[in-house]
Amino acid sequence: MQTVEVLIEVNNLKKYFRVGRNAFVKAVDDVSFNICKGETLGLVGESGCGKTTCGKTILGLYSTTDGEVIFDGVNIHALRPNEKTEFTKRAQIIFQDPYSSLNPRMTVGDIIGEGMDIHHLYKGKEREEKVFELLNTVGLNKEHVNRFPHEFSGGQRQRIGIARALAIEPDFIVCDEPISALDVSIQAQIVNLLMELQRSKDLTYLFIAHNLSMIKYISDRVGVMYLGNLVELTTSAELYDNPLHPYTRALLSAIPIPDPQEERRKQRITLHGEIPSSINPPPGCRFASRCQFAKEICTRAMPPLVEVDKEHFVACHLARQF
Ligand code: SF4
Repeated sequence: MQTVEVLIEVNNLKKYFRVGRNAFVKAVDDVSFNICKGETLGLVGESGCGKTTCGKTILGLYSTTDGEVIFDGVNIHALRPNEKTEFTKRAQIIFQDPYSSLNPRMTVGDIIGEGMDIHHLYKGKEREEKVFELLNTVGLNKEHVNRFPHEFSGGQRQRIGIARALAIEPDFIVCDEPISALDVSIQAQIVNLLMELQRSKDLTYLFIAHNLSMIKYISDRVGVMYLGNLVELTTSAELYDNPLHPYTRALLSAIPIPDPQEERRKQRITLHGEIPSSINPPPGCRFASRCQFAKEICTRAMPPLVEVDKEHFVACHLARQF
């Protein structure tokens, strides 16, 4: 039997941002999950649910308010600045917007080579060869090396962003909505490229997205976030076949089905009601104001994330009752 090795443990992670004297936006509020080596964990939810903050806090780009992130046995938020180099070499990010995430004044060669310079990995001819190799790996070629980002299409710029992330040979990459700014026709190409790279380089991904359509193809497991909380976490297949949280069901119902007859038959779940403030969230279930099944207990007590089936966790008082 294959042993599954955990690469990242996120334990009770909280990240609050101060917005006034005694006011905080609770962007991530007590979130726990693991990511195994070689796995892709999808993290999905509407804009503002905390998924990107969660990814950036895991990478150490934000400090934690509470909780811990253990990477290969090391609590990365307890590291001193001079001890962080090894971690930053092993963990990288691909940003959402390929238009703004590349320095417009740098050539493609320098954008890709910058990480190698910072980590003193390659010099001279070897550096040049490595940049050519990376361009080739992401489907570009060495003629592109002296060009600037504005000379490329959105999909090509995202390929440059991927090459930049790969340049220092990381183990783990946070893919922060890497396809949402791209044309639908290009999205599948980038997802396929990321999957190929994962296989060939044994990468581990946290893949962040705001809808569930593409995440199905790339993720082994999927976590659904709502207003700073993780509300459902299970394998990709189980989530699509047997969603248990009403919010997950609403997200799934929004995915278009290619078959027009099936699409017409499908029942779209439209969410009504206000999204509560993440500065002062309600004491009970944060989804209660939009949940058609809400009962009195839902507004009184926060439902914990519990394992209701093997590897299927859900935070809902009434899971399996509707
Ligand atoms: Fe809806 Fe209650 Fe479940 Fe929250 S706990 S999702 S309000 S049924």
